[in-house]
Amino acid sequence: MTGYNERMSTVALHACCGPCLIEPLDALLSAHDVTIVYANPNIHPLSEYRRRRDVLLEYAAGRGIEVVEVPYDPAMWLEATAGLWSDPPRRCRACFDLRLKLTADVAKARGLRALATTLTVSPYQDPDAVREAAQSAAAAAGLAYAGEDYRDRYPQATRRSRELGMYRQNYCGCLLSEIEAERDRGRRRQERRARRGHERSSSLPGQV
Ligand code: SF4
Repeated sequence: MTGYNERMSTVALHACCGPCLIEPLDALLSAHDVTIVYANPNIHPLSEYRRRRDVLLEYAAGRGIEVVEVPYDPAMWLEATAGLWSDPPRRCRACFDLRLKLTADVAKARGLRALATTLTVSPYQDPDAVREAAQSAAAAAGLAYAGEDYRDRYPQATRRSRELGMYRQNYCGCLLSEIEAERDRGRRRQERRARRGHERSSSLPGQV
């Protein structure tokens, strides 16, 4: 919890994709006026960036919520994470810092009062790193942090996004995360094959 108790404030909600937007948006709309900010120069390739954005825009339009898109500039992500590509915790923190600073800039330019991010719904992100990045971006821009840890709502977000037929990506966003996710899936496939092989061999009659 954040301790942000002010009601009917104006909140810039950084959103990474449609599925992650659903639950934090509901939570914030119960108390605040929300503007969604799509600030994700990390997403690779451009077609993937557009696909996630269009899903999000369609959902937001259906809810009557404005979306501000920060123009796509992957060079910003490359610069922010330079030297950190083989160090995922520090790379991701730099990525959060960048996206949340871009969101805070939008909030400040529009006179909004607080900041939050949908990244806090994902069990795949480091919650402390996300919160620290968001709090620091908010403080630097003179905003309050209105976010919360929404990970307990992730199963509901998954169910609702499936019911809506939303596109659900299978990697975080950057090129490196796509490769890492593919590597993890390959490792899990190998482990499953090895387990099945072991089960088959242990069910064979013993040899004397
Ligand atoms: S894995 Fe995700 S959070 Fe980490 S750098 Fe890549 S896009 Fe950013």
